[in-house]
Amino acid sequence: PERILSGMQPTGALHLGNYLGALKNWVALQERGVPCFYCVVDMHAMTMPHDPAALPDAVRNVAAAYLAAGVDPSRSAVFAQSSVREHAELAWIFNCVARLGWLERMTQFKDKAGKDAERASVGLFTYPVLQAADILVYKATHVPVGEDQKQHLELSRDIAARFNRDFGKGEAVFPLPEPVIMPDGARIMSLKDGSAKMSKSDPSDNSRINLADDADAIARKIRKAKTDPEALPASTKELEGRPEAKNLVGIYAALTGTSSQAVLDEFGGQGFGVFKPRLAEVAVEFLSPISDTYARLLSDRAEIDRILAAGAEKARAVAEPVIAEARDLVGYWRG
Ligand code: ATP
Ligand code: MG
Repeated sequence: PERILSGMQPTGALHLGNYLGALKNWVALQERGVPCFYCVVDMHAMTMPHDPAALPDAVRNVAAAYLAAGVDPSRSAVFAQSSVREHAELAWIFNCVARLGWLERMTQFKDKAGKDAERASVGLFTYPVLQAADILVYKATHVPVGEDQKQHLELSRDIAARFNRDFGKGEAVFPLPEPVIMPDGARIMSLKDGSAKMSKSDPSDNSRINLADDADAIARKIRKAKTDPEALPASTKELEGRPEAKNLVGIYAALTGTSSQAVLDEFGGQGFGVFKPRLAEVAVEFLSPISDTYARLLSDRAEIDRILAAGAEKARAVAEPVIAEARDLVGYWRG
């Protein structure tokens, strides 16, 4: 049976990339009636330097953004990763299943560790192993993620297959989880640099459109977005080599539910002076219902906490028997 897991880090404000690349998909899967586990991955947030005092509120903010995007806590489990300890327990087992060489190939580690990888936390290096545990502790079969997470998901499959082979006694104990990637808008790029993806943890707030941004902020960020001096071309082929233009056209297409080519059919030959204000209008119209709901939810923190507690209970009920099975298979002492 299908089962969905996904999560986001409480490392900053959720942005349009998180919505178009992930949240939108989460809601669509929930609507199909498949069991969904949507966690706020606070354990992942400490792989980079973090502020302990700010973390609980950061978790609430991300949970509220899930709800504002349309995740329904009466159908999907919404919870904090750290409140279900089975994630950490399975991560240890998987640390002993994954091979060093597999992790050394992960490009996100290289991006996030930067030039001085020797100083990165060991947690940042084994991050994809914890991610495999997040998924497989629920025996999830499908993981809606953005394009940027595909490599990590392949690693989860490798870990599941290796565990099954080494400890499964001939059974497929863990499923090999499949990515669910949105064909359009799967990868939204930074407004400041068309070659970097839009990110919560980018220090420049102008690099992203946040789900909580008001109309003025959205218009200002789009006006200031990096572009080139050329007009928009007539066909998408001519967007190659123009990453910033390609990104803005892609965002317009994703927000209006059309293709980039359809956007160029309308705007080809026009300059950014015409296109940017139209994009801003479309973005404001798209985001305002989400940002209104978001603001309302954040005004009742006790309600968010209740939702997170109930979600954790639901999640634990599924994770406990999976951990019991894994403990048994690896030969842990029963006592
Ligand atoms: P961080 O900078 O802290 O890594 P992030 O913005 O990359 O933050 P994550 O918490 O790593 O966000 O990812 C949450 C989800 O959003 C994942 O499914 C990821 O694939 C998706 N996602 C993140 N950034 C983008 C983007 N720019 N375009 C499309 N999807 C994205
Ligand atoms: Mg990320």
